[in-house]
Amino acid sequence: MSTKSHLLPLIPNVNDCLNILATIPEVQGIPRDRMKKLVRQFLAQIRKSIQADNDPGPLTLDEDGILPRLIQYVCDGHQYHFRKVVNATGVIIHTNLGRSLLPEATMESLFFAGSRYSNLEFDLATGKRGSRYSHIEDILCELTGAEAALVVNNNAAAVLIVLETLAKGKEAIVSRGQLVEIGGSFRIPDVMARSGATLVEVGATNRTHLADYQNALSQDTGVLLKVHCSNYRIIGFTSEVSNDALVALGHEFDIPVVEDLGSGSLIDLSRFGLEKEPTVQEAVSSGVDVVTFSGDKLLGGPQAGIIVGCKKYIEQIKKNPLNRALRIDKFTLSGLESILRYYLDEEKAIQQIPTLSMIAESTDQVQVRAEACVNNLKAKCKGLFQLDIVATTSRVGGGAMPEQGVESIAVAIQSESFSAGKLEKLLRGQPIPIIGRVEHERLLLDMRTVAEDEVVLIVDAMVAAIEKMKSVSGNI
Ligand SMILES: *Cc1c(COP(=O)(O)O)cnc(C)c1O
Repeated sequence: MSTKSHLLPLIPNVNDCLNILATIPEVQGIPRDRMKKLVRQFLAQIRKSIQADNDPGPLTLDEDGILPRLIQYVCDGHQYHFRKVVNATGVIIHTNLGRSLLPEATMESLFFAGSRYSNLEFDLATGKRGSRYSHIEDILCELTGAEAALVVNNNAAAVLIVLETLAKGKEAIVSRGQLVEIGGSFRIPDVMARSGATLVEVGATNRTHLADYQNALSQDTGVLLKVHCSNYRIIGFTSEVSNDALVALGHEFDIPVVEDLGSGSLIDLSRFGLEKEPTVQEAVSSGVDVVTFSGDKLLGGPQAGIIVGCKKYIEQIKKNPLNRALRIDKFTLSGLESILRYYLDEEKAIQQIPTLSMIAESTDQVQVRAEACVNNLKAKCKGLFQLDIVATTSRVGGGAMPEQGVESIAVAIQSESFSAGKLEKLLRGQPIPIIGRVEHERLLLDMRTVAEDEVVLIVDAMVAAIEKMKSVSGNI
């Protein structure tokens, strides 16, 4: 039996709470039924806490009682679940934080696509039904050198539909070293199984030779599949079969060669000191019949799975009924056309597509934001937190170049009295959450992925976090 149960009758009732809330500006506009539900939940929490023998403090419905907590609870309960966050992790293509950001001009395309009618599937020349893919097929071919192109929901869907079309009921030959699992449970062997293709693994984990593919060929072979080892590297004594050799083998037996490039860049990023990755154009020109890659990894566009290659195979894929289930919507389409147009001028793409400009930005420029952040925070953190500007390493992310970092600059925050983990959690709990990373008992905010106009959001969040720490430590 709780020793505090005599407090239970003092808990305000739902109607009194609702009447007070009706006078509070912050919670206006919240539908009554939802408000009622949130108030009930809040009161139930208080009841539970009393039954667990905790001291609830004064139970009056005013500033000194439970009102501030009630208002906070209702506001928190009604805020959008899907929200903006500040990515201070330094991972540029962060799958959990939304991968690629779109340029403002691209957002205007999305705005028009959503708010106006369009020629989505309408041929303006004939006045008849058109194809939604017609808007981007030509530009994809122009940029990649492929004969034909198609876009589906994401790259996982692209791999699925390609295999379902070309290798269902047949065998797909893959090197053992390429049976990758991408985060979020995308595993090449599982996708293959779903497509109805039978996986034939060849070679050893570290070395696969052309003879391994040759020996595995049979009447039942549907495709030769090559998969980019996105998020891992096999190093040491290794060997892979070149595209040229694989293509020659495939073409000798009229078997399509398919390459899943994963991130798939249209620009050779080795000019920024990054590891050389094959570009989409290089894969196409090596003679690979079908190439797939993501729209929202290194390309820097909306979520999509892009399929380019020989007309003969792409036409078959287009006709697959699965295509209707995996098709992209008008937002993706308008965003993708806008992004692809940047690539008509490589320098413009690098400057204006955020994913690329974040990779290309010099540490001097990143440093400017780190300094702005520290200068704004110094006075506010005095005596509480030590602030330093430190060198760190950003990651490209999205399965691109896992071995390699990009030099960067972070604001490091540490304190004797608060653990870095606690601060990380407090910043993550703000209305606009700040997502950093804890390293060696310091919270690092990597400024490479923080935009100039987000520095102020970090400052505001720190101020709020400091307030919260003070109030919590006062209570304890
Ligand atoms: C990321 C990746 C995928 C999945 O792409 P999504 O666009 O996330 O569906 C498939 N294959 C490889 C090699 C990848 O790197």
